[in-house]
Amino acid sequence: GPMGLFSFLSQEVAIDLGTANTNIIANDKLVVDEPSIVAIDRNTGKLIAIGEKARQMHGRTHENIRVIRPLRDGVIADFHAAELMIRGMIKMINTGPKFFSPSLKMVVGIPCGSTEVEIRAVRDSSEHAGGRDVYLIYEPMAAAIGIGLDVEAPEGCMVVDIGGGTTEIAVIALGGIVCNRSIRVAGDGFTADIQAYMRHQHNIKIGEKTAEDIKIAVGAALPDIENPPADFVVRGPNLMTSLPIEIPVSYQEIAYCLDKSLTKIEASILQVLEQTPPELYADIVNRGVFLAGGGALLRGLDKRLTDKINIPFRVSEDPLHAVVRGTGVALKNVEKYPFLMR
Ligand code: ADP
Ligand code: MG
Repeated sequence: GPMGLFSFLSQEVAIDLGTANTNIIANDKLVVDEPSIVAIDRNTGKLIAIGEKARQMHGRTHENIRVIRPLRDGVIADFHAAELMIRGMIKMINTGPKFFSPSLKMVVGIPCGSTEVEIRAVRDSSEHAGGRDVYLIYEPMAAAIGIGLDVEAPEGCMVVDIGGGTTEIAVIALGGIVCNRSIRVAGDGFTADIQAYMRHQHNIKIGEKTAEDIKIAVGAALPDIENPPADFVVRGPNLMTSLPIEIPVSYQEIAYCLDKSLTKIEASILQVLEQTPPELYADIVNRGVFLAGGGALLRGLDKRLTDKINIPFRVSEDPLHAVVRGTGVALKNVEKYPFLMR
């Protein structure tokens, strides 16, 4: 009907373009939640698969297919692949007639450590993918809004977003980021830690996907947690003999192998706290620090940080979607929010 046509023509989307996952909200609904991965034909440069389908191909391709993660460390590393990915994911929601070119209003999240060039890359990819009216928002700001914090209030809040490529730590007050730090220690690094550990400790070679499965099944930040998960059985070739072996992995082992990376994250949180003005510091101690991003789901992470830093840390509700939810709220407030960048 005419209403349907109208809503199609004036489509608005909120995009969280993450190193690991891309999420899109349209009409208040999460309509895309896919790994940030594309499979491209090496000869023609055309898109073969996107998201979960492309992820299935990862590590299993022949020479004509290239599986690419267009983002690295939170920023666009492959411009062409990023554009194909954004365009393809928007197509997933655009079910209307093809001959209408929708006037897309977009709000897209960017890491707060982004350089001018990196910001331009996100803006250009979004515009090439059909965005006519593109606004950018810093991801920790979006995360805070998604968590439900009043970012415009004079009280300070702190958000730690542990994604795939980067951990973003930010203190927010009065609608702005007061201090922040972004480090390249996050989910991908944890996965690499697990691969290295399995190689050294158990002489077994495992791929990235298996290491990620281990992380999700028995990932932990402390060697002693309530409701411990059962051991995860890994199968793979012995490094020396190439014969298949089976190894049960416990959460304690993973807590041990992630310790170094987690210590780096702790050090960075402390650095941001050191830079935080005392009034805001007091607010943060009162309200606690909010954890977002997939890394927040690591078992016992909130407890580990609370014990080490002596400020309460809490995992936000549905941490994987905090940024996109906040970006969705920003989409509805583009006139009102002064911190959105045109
Ligand atoms: P990004 O915003 O960079 O795309 P996300 O916030 O989507 O990242 O988080 C993705 C990361 O979180 C990945 O490294 C993934 O392996 C990790 N992750 C997802 N679920 C869990 C879990 N239950 N435990 C630990 N890590 C997880
Ligand atoms: Mg993210």
